[in-house]
Amino acid sequence: MPTAGAMPPYELYAIRYATNRKRTRGQNFIFEAQPEMLQPMDFYSWVAIGEAGTFVIDTGMARAKAEKHGHDYLHCPIDSLRLLGVAPEQVEQVVITHLHYDHIGNVSAFPKARFELQKAEMDFVVSPFMQKSWCRRAYEVDEISHFVALLHQDRLVLHGADKQIAPGLSVHLVGGHCAGQEIVRVWTRRGWVVLASDALHYYEELERGVPFTVAFNVAEMLTAHDRMRELAESDAHIVVSHDPLVSERYPAARPDLADHILRLD
Ligand SMILES: [Zn+2]
Repeated sequence: MPTAGAMPPYELYAIRYATNRKRTRGQNFIFEAQPEMLQPMDFYSWVAIGEAGTFVIDTGMARAKAEKHGHDYLHCPIDSLRLLGVAPEQVEQVVITHLHYDHIGNVSAFPKARFELQKAEMDFVVSPFMQKSWCRRAYEVDEISHFVALLHQDRLVLHGADKQIAPGLSVHLVGGHCAGQEIVRVWTRRGWVVLASDALHYYEELERGVPFTVAFNVAEMLTAHDRMRELAESDAHIVVSHDPLVSERYPAARPDLADHILRLD
């Protein structure tokens, strides 16, 4: 297991900004035995705060997109950042794990930021696969267009498979869920934590070794389980992206932020 020596750890937070109580297991797992059973889905974005700076990891969903897709919007994630003392207009670095609409809303709230994204994901969203409605169903063209504009404004960095964004914070291509899905490894006071983003929606995927329904490449989605286990200190250091269990397993950042902002480190 790699160690970070004397590297200062990041504080790491998950912001739970939306939920969908009507979601069923059949919508979540392929060949599910109890497809009608409810399995709520929560929506999170993340932020790492350390000596090297503040790194927003995905920007959540815009309120209008939550309404369009039938999700209950609990908090604007931009307001949630302010509750942690992070001023979005001052944030300089945003990591985007992939371009699905629930991870790239609210981008205009970060006027100073430089965005980091897998080259493979940008290639994917303008590829012939987008001629297939099944492949593009979690992409919103107005938000994709916004990222094209950011690229032309020198505000979007398209990186290769693995990149150290800052000391103790790196991104790693796994694909699977979408062509350019990446995971994020963060050095914390409890060791290396891996934000799986949508490489894992529910803990159950890792525990049972099963893929989520929204999959561009099922084999890559399963192989990603091995990669995140290589990079995380233990399975308890892997944080999934849409499971209500996240808010049971991690404490609130402050008493007034219960069920809203969780401390992952
Ligand atoms: Zn997602």
